[in-house]
Amino acid sequence: MAKWVYSFGGGKSEGKSEMRNLLGGKGANLAEMSNLGLPVPPGFTITTEVCTHFYANKRSYPAELKAQTAAALGAVEKIVGRKFGDAKKPLLVSVRSGARASMPGMMDTVLNLGLNDATVEGLARESGDARFAFDSYRRFIQMYGGVVLDIAHHHFEELLEHAKSDRGYALDTEMTAEDWKELVVDYKAMVEKELGRPFPQDPHEQLWGAIGAVFVSWMNDRAITYRRLYQIPEEWGTAVNVQAMVFGNMGGDCATGVAFTRDPSTGENAFYGEFLINAQGEDVVAGIRTPQQLTKAGREKQGAKLPSMEEAMPETYAQLVAIRTRLERHYRDIQDIEFTVEKGVLYMLQTRSGKRTAAAALRIAVEMAEEGLIDRKTAVSRIDPSSLDQLLHPTLDPKAPRTLLSRALPASPGAASGIVCFSADEAEALAAGGKSVILVRIETSPEDIHGMHAARGILTTRGGMTSHAAVVARGMGRACVAGAGEIRVDYAAKTMSIRGRTIAAGEAITIDGGTGEVFAGEVPTVQPELSGHFARIMEWADSYRRMKVRTNAETPLDARTARRFGAEGIGLCRTEHMFFEPSRILAVREMIVADDATARAAALAKIMPFQRADFVELFEIMAGLPVTIRLLDPPLHEFLPHSEADFVELARTTGKSVAEVKARAEKLTETNPMLGHRGCRLAVTYPEIYQMQVRAIFEAAILVAKAKGETVAPEIMIPLVAVRRELDVMRDHIAKVAEEVRAATGEAVEYSLGTMIELPRAALRAGEIAETAEFFSFGTNDLTQTTFGLSRDDAANFLGAYEQQKILVRDPFVTLDQEGVGELVKMACARGRTTRPDIKLGICGEHGGDPASIQFCETAGLDYVSCSPYRVPIARLAAAQAALQESASAASLVKKPAAKKSAPALDRHARVRLDAARRGAVRPAPGRTAPLARLAVAKKPVVKKPVAKKPAPKKAPAKKAPVKKAPIKKKPAPKAKPKTKTKSKRK
Ligand code: PEP
Ligand code: MG
Repeated sequence: MAKWVYSFGGGKSEGKSEMRNLLGGKGANLAEMSNLGLPVPPGFTITTEVCTHFYANKRSYPAELKAQTAAALGAVEKIVGRKFGDAKKPLLVSVRSGARASMPGMMDTVLNLGLNDATVEGLARESGDARFAFDSYRRFIQMYGGVVLDIAHHHFEELLEHAKSDRGYALDTEMTAEDWKELVVDYKAMVEKELGRPFPQDPHEQLWGAIGAVFVSWMNDRAITYRRLYQIPEEWGTAVNVQAMVFGNMGGDCATGVAFTRDPSTGENAFYGEFLINAQGEDVVAGIRTPQQLTKAGREKQGAKLPSMEEAMPETYAQLVAIRTRLERHYRDIQDIEFTVEKGVLYMLQTRSGKRTAAAALRIAVEMAEEGLIDRKTAVSRIDPSSLDQLLHPTLDPKAPRTLLSRALPASPGAASGIVCFSADEAEALAAGGKSVILVRIETSPEDIHGMHAARGILTTRGGMTSHAAVVARGMGRACVAGAGEIRVDYAAKTMSIRGRTIAAGEAITIDGGTGEVFAGEVPTVQPELSGHFARIMEWADSYRRMKVRTNAETPLDARTARRFGAEGIGLCRTEHMFFEPSRILAVREMIVADDATARAAALAKIMPFQRADFVELFEIMAGLPVTIRLLDPPLHEFLPHSEADFVELARTTGKSVAEVKARAEKLTETNPMLGHRGCRLAVTYPEIYQMQVRAIFEAAILVAKAKGETVAPEIMIPLVAVRRELDVMRDHIAKVAEEVRAATGEAVEYSLGTMIELPRAALRAGEIAETAEFFSFGTNDLTQTTFGLSRDDAANFLGAYEQQKILVRDPFVTLDQEGVGELVKMACARGRTTRPDIKLGICGEHGGDPASIQFCETAGLDYVSCSPYRVPIARLAAAQAALQESASAASLVKKPAAKKSAPALDRHARVRLDAARRGAVRPAPGRTAPLARLAVAKKPVVKKPVAKKPAPKKAPAKKAPVKKAPIKKKPAPKAKPKTKTKSKRK
């Protein structure tokens, strides 16, 4: 019989933490805590498989579920000595969701379930507190009414407000037992009116109503949005946890709280949390009451007046501290815990791995490794590479003038400026229009998630460090200042006011989530320092990384930034970007509209010194590192004049009439420029352009080599090659210039020639292209465009619908389409290597900075990835994680005898990894699953053919371009590539 329900409590449980997929995170960890002997109220988990069954079978349950639930409920009754529905000693339960990945606040919860007109009396008698009992009952009706019966919240709010105002009360705390009792009557009457039937009194009916509501909430809009944002598959489903209630709201010796075993903002190894005396769990996270600090140090740091838990409940606090240590040792990660104190007794309600800022993640990983809790590989694997983005972005310029408006809680670090807006929908709309937005709310709720995502920063006027706004902002990497109580928000007037100053929607403010400060207007920012824990993790990551990380850069600023971030060379210098500078664009236009080679040569001669100076600077910045320069690849229309003034100026410079210049421009206008006269096609018709560029490259290399005494060995890259002959023609042009430069200067530059692989034909013909090309760089932007037949410039208009309808899971321009485009990449790698075993392989499309695509590049065996400067650290870390994962999978192959036998069937890279694993050079990274399947399916025979068999190209350029070691070379180039046969033929 299938098992659908797993019990926990009473010091043992049927589940454990490894059963997360089946029991969800909450269920698995409740089971684990129970196994550890921690004080967990007993309960049971209905598995995620029931959720799957529910949706696959028209929202119905498996036949055995009822009986298994009844048995599990019976077990709970036994442990706590109470009965569900019993009028004297009633068992009350909570019903909560619990997916595999934590989705805080996205799904539904019902507390105090089991209360009805009879059991409430029992609870009142038993607790000796009728006020508490009836308050709990009205909370239950309200929560169940909203979550299960779908009754709008305002119906309850209005009745409560009337009840208070009729009695002249301002606060809920003034309500007496009798008052709550009367409100319960009003609530039930309202429910009956709205529903056409009475509020359910049968606890079993209540229970199944709540279980169904939790499963249904898996498909609510909030949950769907959250899953989309965090890429949580819908098939995972949620579990349902039913657990005996414990009460933090039974009096002054009761409390409820949430805590992190370390500071989730900074990562400091200090117990960190908030609690409320005499309150129920949801009150802390809901941000309705501003909570008290857990520790004395925390209270003092915040300058708060109310006592900390350490001071108010020292004994219970000491127990909690012991549990903190126990949990961290057990899980070897920061834990986010929820607890309740009922009449002085501590209960653990949840533990899960704590969401943390990127800065905290780094510090925690480094310190845990140093404490010996985890090893360095685990530390490196723990950091989400994309999260580093949070640290790479600017913080407020300390010297910049600023006007402080308010200071509140530093809920999520980072500085952000933007225009104020007061609703999530508006934030989303404004951000879609390209505006930077600060979302200002009294407090946020899960309904605001889309606006929080769209905003640069979030400011709330209510709630603490664990309020919804704070937790979600930290998870999303948005700056957040929370609990700015001095600020008054008027949603209707769309204003916020503070000490007599009013700021309307649309005006700019700046928030600093690291300090909790709010400023008027826009405050300038500065670059962050990347030292300390960041540098440490990077150092460890680099020690595990196989692939190199280069950058896509053409300006000195970008090149310097990339080096600061650890780039190991330039993988793509888009030379056309150098042509747009105001000082050159006119000469470039002159060149484009030139009627003949002479006029073109004259224009090019004007551009040449600029190009040479550009390359000199890049070679100097990248001293000793490889620099791949891609020759011009513009769709020409990008350079054509646009405004009347541009045409007039160009006419003046070229001595033509405006009409002539316009006619020429008209002629150059293409219907489909991305598939038009661009890339090497341009140089097929106008070879002078590339000739000028390579002359600039060679002369710059000689200048820098002379000045610095180092070999400069540029990698010259030809774009948009489809046919091998295109590359051969370019090679001959380049060789001719190399010879001319050598003849003129007496210096020979060592260079290599390669191509972008960005057209499917190039991937298919990679074998023969590699006879000429010494390296391939996959231009996956164009390769994606041309493989899908999907315009790079227009796809964004409709790809959203593709993702929504699950036709495509991810935008293929962001994350490489491994099945299609990736297949071409793998094929080109294999064919290229067959011809030229030591061919250098890299990627320079946007995917070179995307962690999932970097993982693919590792498995494809690329030598390097190249990405924009700000993504370099992300790529370094992602490449290290990819290498660790590959090592783990190789190591798992070693363990399997069958894999040993099949080793000869593995491709070259699988073999390398396997050999490394056998030598013990690689070990599986703890905590990561080994993607065995990937290696096991690699069936390519090992390529033994070391050299290209084909005859050398007829026009052996070698005779024309003797590429000898430059006489000026003082020491060997550190990154000098081995000579290849093909190259020597060119000599
Ligand atoms: C590419 O196509 O992937 C590439 C890097 O070139 P560009 O984006 O300049 O076309
Ligand atoms: Mg391209």
